[in-house]
Amino acid sequence: MYDILSNDANCFIDNEEVLASLSYGKAVASDPTSIADILEKAKTYKGLSHRSAAALLEVTDKNTLEEIFSLAKQIKEQIYGRRIVLFAPLYLSDYCINSCTYCGYSKNNYNPIRRRLTIDQLKEEVEILEKLGHKRLALEVGEDPINCPLDYVIDCINAIYSLKFDNGAIRRVNVNIAATTKESYTRIKEANIGTYILFQETYHKPTYLLNHPKGPKHNYEWHTEAHDRAMESGIEDVGFGVLYGLFDWKYDTIALLMHAEHLEASKGIGPHTISVPRLRSAEGMRQENFPHLVSDDHFKLLVAVLRIAVPYTGMILTTRESPDFRNELLAVGISQVSAGSCTGVGGYADSKKQSSGQKRLTSLSQFEPADHRSPSEVIKSLLSGGYVPSFCTACYREGRTGDRFMDLAKTGNIADICQANAVLTLKEYIEDFGDTELRELGESIIQSEIYSMSNKNIQKETINKISQTAKGTRDLRF
Ligand code: SAM
Repeated sequence: MYDILSNDANCFIDNEEVLASLSYGKAVASDPTSIADILEKAKTYKGLSHRSAAALLEVTDKNTLEEIFSLAKQIKEQIYGRRIVLFAPLYLSDYCINSCTYCGYSKNNYNPIRRRLTIDQLKEEVEILEKLGHKRLALEVGEDPINCPLDYVIDCINAIYSLKFDNGAIRRVNVNIAATTKESYTRIKEANIGTYILFQETYHKPTYLLNHPKGPKHNYEWHTEAHDRAMESGIEDVGFGVLYGLFDWKYDTIALLMHAEHLEASKGIGPHTISVPRLRSAEGMRQENFPHLVSDDHFKLLVAVLRIAVPYTGMILTTRESPDFRNELLAVGISQVSAGSCTGVGGYADSKKQSSGQKRLTSLSQFEPADHRSPSEVIKSLLSGGYVPSFCTACYREGRTGDRFMDLAKTGNIADICQANAVLTLKEYIEDFGDTELRELGESIIQSEIYSMSNKNIQKETINKISQTAKGTRDLRF
């Protein structure tokens, strides 16, 4: 039975409640007045229940769809301004004891050169990433306690934070590692991570079991209750995600919102981020063989509905999507994107070697990216679209995590600070990595952002910090 406060995944993601919400959504969506009421309520920026969101997912009428997109855009711009946070994934190890049907790292994929980065190889990767201007990483590993134990991951996190090449620095390390014990979560927390990210893949239990036929990931409850354990171990910022394409997108979107409501009700803090990975072809699998692939139109709708339903949760989009479609999705809710990503272990050094004519190691890619632009190209495209690329990592380093972050975000008190930090980190990027075109585009956005600042004290201090940054000081922040 549905129980939002239960510790049991089968109760806080109760299948009957998801199905009832789907039916409720269908019934409500046939009545235009009810949809108008839901949209009116959403204009207060207080979010929506999973049942109201279910109704919006059913909308097919063109004009109402436009209303949903324009409301999502309005909410996004009100809360996040024009800022887009940038990050890169870093794959540490492709050893895996699971056999996920969709993943290139599945143990069923025979590959004689499974890899785990040595500390020297890690240094090479970090040097390249820092020289691309990245400040925020998402660490990715397959699950294998023998070949990739937690001690190794923690050593890597410590090494990454300590490695500084020229003006570069990785200032926030988020981690995407398999569901684990409370003891391990405590250790990860102590390693000073940013967000703990774990994708549910699908909330539909029979489909989950089918797609995770062997290995520890087969345990649906262990996986689905992982964020609870992480939070109970002191990790305040956790990230969710559905792997769209495994099961019905409406079912999974409703269940994801129920999961967010569960954390909010039982822990007092909802998810810090929601990722929306969509299935891509990978070693050993073709996406065409999966029966629930999500069309672009449906994908755009679900992104917009998530934006409206959980306005204060960051939304992450990766290079699984093409450049043009990424631009379209930025407008309806995405607030963080990855750029210049490699999805294989040692991928950054490998690509560099390949482009300089050296022999490239053919390591496994977890999936095939659809956006192959460099970070600099992504940043130019964002700037040309009027966005403010941000490398900000200030919140968690200033202790603004969990409910402290959410309270500031919900009262709107964080917007001025975020805007200033975005501008400062963009200035750093321009100074350290910008060519003439990037400087021109970037300086003009910086000027207009500073001009638009409503808090005059912050505006004055930002101008001051910008001039110090131009003179070579780094890591100035609010
Ligand atoms: N081992 C960790 C776990 O079990 O959660 C991390 C998994 S992996 C490094 C990160 C994510 O990539 C997965 O959770 C999955 O959602 C996504 N992924 C795997 N294969 C994919 C594919 N073929 N297309 C798109 N995304 C994929």
